[in-house]
Amino acid sequence: MAKALGQHSYLFLENFIGGKFVPCRSHIDSYDPSTGEVYCKVPDSGREEVEAAVAAAKDAFPDWSARSPEQRAQVLNKLADLMEAHLEEFAQAESRDQGKTVAFARTVDIPRSAYNFRFFASSVLHHTTECSQMDHIGCLNYTVRCPVGVAGLISPWNLPLYLLTWKIAPAIAAGNTVVAKPSEMTSVTAWMLCKLMQEAGVPPGVVNIIFGTGPRAGDALVGHPDVPLVSFTGSTATAQRVTERSAPYCKKLSLELGGKNPAIIFADADLDNCIETTVRSSFSNQGEICLCTSRIYVERSIYSEFLERFVAASKKWKTGVPSDPGNNNGALISKEHLEKVRSFVALAKCEGGVVHCGEGVDQLDLPEQNKSGYFMPATVISGVSDSSRVMQEEIFGPVTCVSPFDTEDEAVSKGNGVRYGLAATVWSRDVGKVHRVAKRIQAGLVWTNCWLVRDLNLPFGGMKNSGVGREGGKDSYHFFTEVKSVTIQH
Ligand code: NAD
Repeated sequence: MAKALGQHSYLFLENFIGGKFVPCRSHIDSYDPSTGEVYCKVPDSGREEVEAAVAAAKDAFPDWSARSPEQRAQVLNKLADLMEAHLEEFAQAESRDQGKTVAFARTVDIPRSAYNFRFFASSVLHHTTECSQMDHIGCLNYTVRCPVGVAGLISPWNLPLYLLTWKIAPAIAAGNTVVAKPSEMTSVTAWMLCKLMQEAGVPPGVVNIIFGTGPRAGDALVGHPDVPLVSFTGSTATAQRVTERSAPYCKKLSLELGGKNPAIIFADADLDNCIETTVRSSFSNQGEICLCTSRIYVERSIYSEFLERFVAASKKWKTGVPSDPGNNNGALISKEHLEKVRSFVALAKCEGGVVHCGEGVDQLDLPEQNKSGYFMPATVISGVSDSSRVMQEEIFGPVTCVSPFDTEDEAVSKGNGVRYGLAATVWSRDVGKVHRVAKRIQAGLVWTNCWLVRDLNLPFGGMKNSGVGREGGKDSYHFFTEVKSVTIQH
């Protein structure tokens, strides 16, 4: 709801507990990244609000978990229908709240958010369990799967509704009830989703959404004894805290974390497709996708040609006002994040790196009202050593580094030479090489000659510091259910 405070009118969000909107006593400022102005007040929830939400979710669990998968699927499909009917409103809101372009929200975030419900509504109907015979001792063994209870769901700011629904949908499809906490920086579309719950037929208490910061609301949720499983997407640093906090309760944890994703480009690659896709994989959504490419290793014989063409293509990747359909990128999430991303470019320069385009090289032409927005142009750097923080740490912005390699072994070792292991792309026309490298790369997802092609049935997740566990059709079902082995002697 919009409320006036002094001369300003702000959007005030409320928690959604037990099927009702519940006002909160204190609020956090939420900024429009494209102007740098506060436009929304997000509840600053803590232990008390989380307690109420967990209690509502516990009350709703017996009835919801007793429904048939078909009955639950019907509700999920209805939610998807309603989201699609309100697609444009959601897209505009996501863009304003996050800084991304309206076009990206309209074609990626919101359609995928609706599809998450549709996908899990369908996939929950198709799971089967195992059975084994021990006829020699007259025994039959089989497994059953049961929903776990109240699921705690915590999501980040980069793909707000997309990643939140990627958790809510499989959790409730499997019969759990949930308490979700979106990022305090991007809460608006989650709040809009709550408004559709009743019409979709989601019973009160099945989906509860608590708004607030990680250290207060998030921590209270992770540490709640009646929340036996937590699905978390965010940074590796926060995941360490989540792991420690949930350890005393032996909670089931799914952790989807950061990446420092390599592209490995061999001399025989289809360069037209490779360059076009690698520009996209480096800079889409302002480079704020965990799967974005940030280290590009190119076989030395084509290195100069690649760099020249790649820089030329990156210069055409336009950054500006999010509502302008001519722009590829909008604004970064916050002033602090923009400063962090810029600091990596400054560090690269200090270390002798060359900034070919973007930050400090190209000027953005922004309208007056967007001059204080958090914009940064697509930036390409070369000449940075593999051990530099620029090549080791997740920057999570429109910055990508290019570096040469000589042999296949060297490419694999460079690709694997970071603590992360989320995604990689491999570019070559040689089928044997593609298979060899894909197998040796330490990453949960390897795309060869493409990027971000997703079949939601397949496992999604990271190795090393990029995560624990996998999400996807079967994997999410396994996470959101407990399996039990039953032996019958007859
Ligand atoms: P973050 O870790 O700061 O926050 C993520 C969520 O955790 C937010 O909702 C935040 O409020 C909450 N949180 C913070 N401290 C907490 C605490 N002590 N206890 C409980 N919850 C807490 O991450 P971010 O900056 O919002 O998101 C960016 C990060 O997310 C990047 O590292 C990115 O790579 C990662 N990410 C990973 C995936 C994936 O699928 N692997 C997808 C998207 C983003």
